[in-house]
Amino acid sequence: MNRIERTIVKETERVIKVARSIYPMGTREIVVVPKLLDYRYAALASFRVKTIWFNTMYCNTKNLDLFISELIPHEVAHLVSDFVYPDAKHIHGKEWKEVCTELGGIPKQWIKGLVHH
Ligand SMILES: [Zn+2]
Repeated sequence: MNRIERTIVKETERVIKVARSIYPMGTREIVVVPKLLDYRYAALASFRVKTIWFNTMYCNTKNLDLFISELIPHEVAHLVSDFVYPDAKHIHGKEWKEVCTELGGIPKQWIKGLVHH
């Protein structure tokens, strides 16, 4: 892992730790992978395999701030809200917005210049 990848993984693990202190996640693990090979996305979260991928090809010095302030809490909130609110109707619905805010993120669906899910 290069320096940016390590920074992204470390920050994501920190946000997951914050989530564990707030929400009853039990022993459920979230895997963080800093190499996403699909160039179309800056980040993806999978409910099925409980994994978040980040595409560090999108991460330059300018974008690193955006990854940390918006993209990381956004993606972690997806998996945490799936654990806590499995019956939520919309992936960017009120449950996700609440979790994203609690994790220090900005609860909006789109992040300028970064395509993600
Ligand atoms: Zn999303």
